[in-house]
Amino acid sequence: MDPRELEELDERWSMHNYRRFGVEFVEGSGTRLIDSEGREYLDFLTGIAVCSLGHCHPDVVAAIEDQAGRLMHTSNLFLSGPAVELARRLAESSLGGATFLCNSGAEANEAAIKIARKAAHTRGVSNPRVVVLEGGFHGRTMGAVSASPKMSQDPSFAPYLEGFDVVPRDDVDSLDHAVGEQTAGILIEPVQGEGGIHPIADSVLSAARSAADRTGAALIFDEVQCGMGRTGSLWGYQLSGIEPDLLTTAKALGGGFPVGSCIASRSWSSVFEPGDHGSTFAGGPMASRAALAALEATSDPGLMDSVSARGERLRAGLAGIPAFSEVRGRGLMVGADLASGGGAPDLVTDLLGKGLITNATGPATLRLLPPLIVTDQEVDRALELISDSVS
Ligand SMILES: *Cc1c(COP(=O)(O)O)cnc(C)c1O
Repeated sequence: MDPRELEELDERWSMHNYRRFGVEFVEGSGTRLIDSEGREYLDFLTGIAVCSLGHCHPDVVAAIEDQAGRLMHTSNLFLSGPAVELARRLAESSLGGATFLCNSGAEANEAAIKIARKAAHTRGVSNPRVVVLEGGFHGRTMGAVSASPKMSQDPSFAPYLEGFDVVPRDDVDSLDHAVGEQTAGILIEPVQGEGGIHPIADSVLSAARSAADRTGAALIFDEVQCGMGRTGSLWGYQLSGIEPDLLTTAKALGGGFPVGSCIASRSWSSVFEPGDHGSTFAGGPMASRAALAALEATSDPGLMDSVSARGERLRAGLAGIPAFSEVRGRGLMVGADLASGGGAPDLVTDLLGKGLITNATGPATLRLLPPLIVTDQEVDRALELISDSVS
């Protein structure tokens, strides 16, 4: 369909909660997307860190095709082999305890918040609170929005959930002071994504670990965006060596298929009891098979080395472009601030016109989330297009 016509239909029939570009992608393979008019694009956004293995990774496609023809859904009233295998692989690759499977990042964080609050009540905390960092983003459900400092200031959706204390993202002392007897959890994105690609300093992560140990609160890392190999290690926390009690993941977990999880260390694995939590679609065989295939492909150590190397190349290239005043990130999760203090949305539009898909997290911040399989040549091509656009 003609994109103009499709835009009109979208305007008429879809709620207006998204600001969209007038482009429809109809096919994808690896690092490339094709739009409805046959134009090819280099994808440096990957559906917001979802298609990290590239579009239509053959192993993920094969797993979904095979499972779709066998069985799509049975509910959590019955056992499921793929779900158990996924739960085990997730735990074995990270915190070693047990896993709650779900369908999205927000849901993974809701589960973590519930676990932290229940554990706090169990040890006699009367008014459990969760400490969150400025700039953090944890999803769009009411609990997750309430945990996201910027969004919970929008009066449109008040009242928000009570019990969240916000501290600066780079201040060890504020964090330490904010954590006390009433603290049920400390919720941190090790590399903040929506907030503009801000890696949290190891000193802050380490202070959060100590504060959690001192009080019995759960240290929760939201790796919905920075997990699944994005930073150059399977899980972002593995770069710092500071282990959380609960780890939430989604986005790239299913290689493009919707799935999320909340993984617990052994001592946090038995907080939920039957009836405490659940979700109809959670842990379905399709999502589990897709995630198993994606995890298998992501676990290749050669791939992680290449993510680190390509990430360095990309950041070095951006740092060499005078229009950018600061370049941040880990692995292939990269943000670059325009020195002019604005213009990022226009830059994104301009790049889209040139066949490079990117995104802006704010007025002056360009965000790049290329597929983990990106080549040096593609990184150089993207740098060339960006450099062209800003000079
Ligand atoms: C995207 C994101 C979420 C929300 O995930 P959904 O799947 O959209 O619910 C939560 N936390 C972080 C860090 C994210 O980037």
